[in-house]
Amino acid sequence: MTKAKEDREMLAADFIVCLPADCPSALPDNVVAVCCHCGCKVQHRPYVPPKVKKVCTDCGIAKMKEDRDADIRITKQAQDEIINYLKRHRH
Ligand SMILES: [Zn+2]
Repeated sequence: MTKAKEDREMLAADFIVCLPADCPSALPDNVVAVCCHCGCKVQHRPYVPPKVKKVCTDCGIAKMKEDRDADIRITKQAQDEIINYLKRHRH
């Protein structure tokens, strides 16, 4: 298996909102990290650039409430990957 390329679109981000580390719907090759706000364990895709701060969903939602003009999106790479994963695992 080849290592996924770093998601260049994500380099422009300040934060990435991550799922909790124990979330059962997660993709199997996710990497475990720590939320930069509360220190809880989160998971993210292996190609997330190290300089992008990781936050958990709770801290992410709190930030979005705080800053209503926040620019929130999913990158093309992440979207394609999720669509492919769902296609492969459809019953
Ligand atoms: Zn947090």
